[in-house]
Amino acid sequence: MNKFIKLNKTIVKCSKCSRLVKFRKKISKFKRKQYINEKYWGKPITGFGDINSRILIVGLAPAAHGGTRTGRVFTGDRSSDFLYKCLYKAKISNQSISKSVDDGLKLNNAFITTALKCVPPGDKPKKNELDNCSKYFDEEINNLNNLRVIVALGKIAFDACVYFYKKKYTLNQKLNFGHGLIYNLPNNVKLIGCYHPSPRNVNTGRINLNKMSHLFKKAIKLT
Ligand code: SF4
Repeated sequence: MNKFIKLNKTIVKCSKCSRLVKFRKKISKFKRKQYINEKYWGKPITGFGDINSRILIVGLAPAAHGGTRTGRVFTGDRSSDFLYKCLYKAKISNQSISKSVDDGLKLNNAFITTALKCVPPGDKPKKNELDNCSKYFDEEINNLNNLRVIVALGKIAFDACVYFYKKKYTLNQKLNFGHGLIYNLPNNVKLIGCYHPSPRNVNTGRINLNKMSHLFKKAIKLT
């Protein structure tokens, strides 16, 4: 536990990426109309969940008016609403909502984090920003001692996971992102690609509750 406490203290104080620091401050100052009376968290976001878990779920970055507002990853935006319906159905979370840090949410055998700890403009990070933040992401993976399965939400998160394993181990195989594709990684870990639970993917029917919860159930079986 101490390793994560120390790491999280460092993450929330980080200001290495000037473009992202400027952006998260701007969002927290001007806010979205419906949250105008709320105080935004406005800092980098850390991982959340059970640090002894066998499943790691990885997103791209905190949402502008979700994690950046509430202070917890996948909390308080529409992607989180959909994600937690799926996680609850798969019995990975104790409830189907993730609205605020004091909502009682708990994860069962899972830890959730993002490859980038600050929201990027247009959800498009620059390579140097992902590189800067990879030291935190790498440390999170290294500290999850029981890790067996990683579910990567979207291509950028998937590539960040592959990058970690390529840096740490010999991995010559080319790994392509695809929903439901499963790869064997070194150290007896499996990587599953999964579409991001974004409103666009939900509204276009690319993903739905059954499809996504089925993928999470498969992740549990692989542990
Ligand atoms: S994205 Fe990561 S490295 Fe960049 S400022 Fe945020 S926490 Fe620091």
